[in-house]
Amino acid sequence: MEHLIRNMRKKKKGAGEPRLQNRPVTAFIGILVSLMWCWTPVQFHVLFEALVARIRETWLEPDFIETFCKIYCRKARVPQEQREQCGLEEYWMADWHCGVVGTHEPGFGSTQQTAELANRKLKNDLIRTTVPLTTHESVVARLVKVVKTWKRGLKESELRTDRPVTLMAPSMTLGQPSFPDGWLLGEFGRQERRPYTKAKTHFVTVGTILKKMRATQGRAKVCFDVYNHWIAMACGKPRAVPAGTAEKLVKHMKVKHAAECRRMLVTEGIIGDENKIFPKKVTELFTGTWCVINSTTFTCTCWRYRWRGRCVHSYAIQEWEGHRRWTPVPLPAADEVIDGEDSAAEEAPAEVDDLRRVRRRLE
Ligand SMILES: [Zn+2]
Repeated sequence: MEHLIRNMRKKKKGAGEPRLQNRPVTAFIGILVSLMWCWTPVQFHVLFEALVARIRETWLEPDFIETFCKIYCRKARVPQEQREQCGLEEYWMADWHCGVVGTHEPGFGSTQQTAELANRKLKNDLIRTTVPLTTHESVVARLVKVVKTWKRGLKESELRTDRPVTLMAPSMTLGQPSFPDGWLLGEFGRQERRPYTKAKTHFVTVGTILKKMRATQGRAKVCFDVYNHWIAMACGKPRAVPAGTAEKLVKHMKVKHAAECRRMLVTEGIIGDENKIFPKKVTELFTGTWCVINSTTFTCTCWRYRWRGRCVHSYAIQEWEGHRRWTPVPLPAADEVIDGEDSAAEEAPAEVDDLRRVRRRLE
């Protein structure tokens, strides 16, 4: 996506590169950045097809969109058995589409940063030697040694660093890390900028979400909404979720037929007359306001989950559903136990027994 944006913004373009004649390219880039976050391939297809039609028929830039499609998108055939269900024979797809369902795994967004980080590690590890790397043979010999280091177990000295040399360290994972990042279990959370925009999302901590969920459960303004095994909540700071939000979002995710998908997007006000697309509304639906988490697989639709492979919502629901515990278990204070030993014993005999044992040992 970085390359695409840079090429589109370039003032001096080479022959064969797409060039808008009558409109500012920033408007076009804004639409692309919002389309990047569509959840499903059918949503991307419907919106991209509307964009192509608008640029060809209303912007009157047929050459531009034709060249753009040739370079940055492609059409794929829908498998025979799915054609009736989708109402399509072929559909638009793009490598820069970073959906919930599609070719991108969570944690591998449409960015070259992952490849660049891997390249940086390779180069850093190669040059950590006193042997001069002046020939191809010396580089290859060094590479053989480096690969061996990547495969060995974690050393005691590396446990204290967050940059281990071996790729076998628990912190190096292709999937979701086994434990939340430190700040997710802290007090304040933090703001993060959504890729390719200036918009920021304030992600709160796991504890804050759980506290709010417990406090508002059964109240008039609940901070989450449940539909089957899906839970909807605010992407940023917890707030009251309108009833029916989870059901609406799940319907958007499950829709398979292109015509039905388009009807839903028109109803949302995302596609207007003459195929006009409202990028702000696309962003609001797919990344900006609400996210929906699967309470069985703990996947989330927020942009952070797709970009980084983990998010506060997913971790909070894991604890909410009793799958894992991240926040500390509140233990009764010693004086509470001493003052009300009988009643406490009824509620939590195991914990009280433990405390009695500790007290006896101390005496
Ligand atoms: Zn999330």
